Amino acid sequence: MTGMTAHDVEHADIRSAVGEICRGFGDPYWRAVDQAKRYPVEFVDALTKAGWLAALIPEEYGGSGLGVGEASVVLEEIQRQGGNAAACHAQMYVMGTLLRHGSEEQKRMYLPRIASGELRLQAFGVTEPTAGSETTRIQTMAVRHGDRYIVNGQKIWTSRFLQSDLMLLLARTTPYDELDDKTKGLSVFLVDIKVAGDAIEARPIDTMINHNTNELFIRDLAIPAQNLIGQEGMGFRYILDGWNAERILIGAECIGDARWFIERAVAYAKRRIVFGRAIGQNQGVALPLARAHANTEAADLMRWKAARLFDAGTSCGPEANMAKLLASEASWEAANVCLDTHGGFGFATEYDVERKFRETRLYTVAPINNNLVLAYVAQHVLGLPKSY
Ligand SMILES: Cc1cc2nc3c(=O)[nH]c(=O)nc-3n(C[C@H](O)[C@H](O)[C@H](O)COP(=O)(O)OP(=O)(O)OC[C@H]3O[C@@H](n4cnc5c(N)ncnc54)[C@H](O)[C@@H]3O)c2cc1C
Repeated sequence: MTGMTAHDVEHADIRSAVGEICRGFGDPYWRAVDQAKRYPVEFVDALTKAGWLAALIPEEYGGSGLGVGEASVVLEEIQRQGGNAAACHAQMYVMGTLLRHGSEEQKRMYLPRIASGELRLQAFGVTEPTAGSETTRIQTMAVRHGDRYIVNGQKIWTSRFLQSDLMLLLARTTPYDELDDKTKGLSVFLVDIKVAGDAIEARPIDTMINHNTNELFIRDLAIPAQNLIGQEGMGFRYILDGWNAERILIGAECIGDARWFIERAVAYAKRRIVFGRAIGQNQGVALPLARAHANTEAADLMRWKAARLFDAGTSCGPEANMAKLLASEASWEAANVCLDTHGGFGFATEYDVERKFRETRLYTVAPINNNLVLAYVAQHVLGLPKSY
């Protein structure tokens, strides 16, 4: 073990309660759902029932009204116990768009039912095959006809669509060429997936991780105008507003992963005897672990700096982005060191290292690629010319 650190003391009550749930879903559970590429519905239900997925929903709408810092502890703890919060993390940050920009009527209609678990809002349809990271180039078009919008287009990497009741959808309401300000002209809709029926065809994408992600083909989908969130044309701004919370929450997951890798590797390095001594006695094994630990702790400081600014209502774009950058790099470093420490056994599924190794690799790429995070810091923090 890496010993008791400040992060263990902070929010010990949340860590212990979430840890208790996680211990009911140990390594064999996660290994089995990974191998079957199955949605971990039992785990998500248990977490929902205990109220943790409603952490960020205010009490007046049936949630617990916690801050992003506390919510991030929930996700960190899941990863630290060897689980995979990717199955449900999106509900925490997707819901924020509805909370901040939805009408009172929309919030009263949906948030209590999301908080209770009656409705799952786990799907977030932003990315498109041709636009990639350039979100303002999306082509899925929503055209208003009376009291409905008719939507046609295509999405990719829409995770958990088949496990959700609701999807937050970003679509274009003004053609790109007609816009002076390219960040306008996009709108956000809340889509009732069951009502949508055949108008959305989901084709699952087989991936190196168990992520339940899909390509969506949207044909003449009718969305009632009352499901538009906020003002037409302001959707990109609303999505941006949610990105800081998303970055902090994902960063915390990476911190949880990094700690899992380091703890497993340290335990193994102490018990594995080769050449008549514990492998951890060799500096070639010990020092990379010490470095991974130091980098994880440093990333965690940035995660907490960002979370505290966010919860104080202060702007935190640079800190939230840097937290995600540093934490995803720290978890990937820890993953490699853990695999190296385990030698050949790191490749055996029964050690769970290879599973967590694959899972944590995602976070340097998604929900935003680290190149784009660096471009943001270069431009908005250092004042360098815009590079994209
Ligand atoms: C498993 C998984 C789940 C996902 N879930 C969702 C989801 O639920 N909803 C959703 O909307 N999206 C989701 N995504 C999409 C994810 O957000 C994108 O994959 C990610 O934003 C990167 O976009 P891209 O894959 O199109 O890469 P591209 O934009 O095509 O970029 C490819 C490479 O080029 C680099 N690059 C591009 N432009 C620049 C530049 N100007 N400067 C430097 N480098 C550049 C990128 O950094 C990257 O390395 C998911 C992706 C994955 C893999």
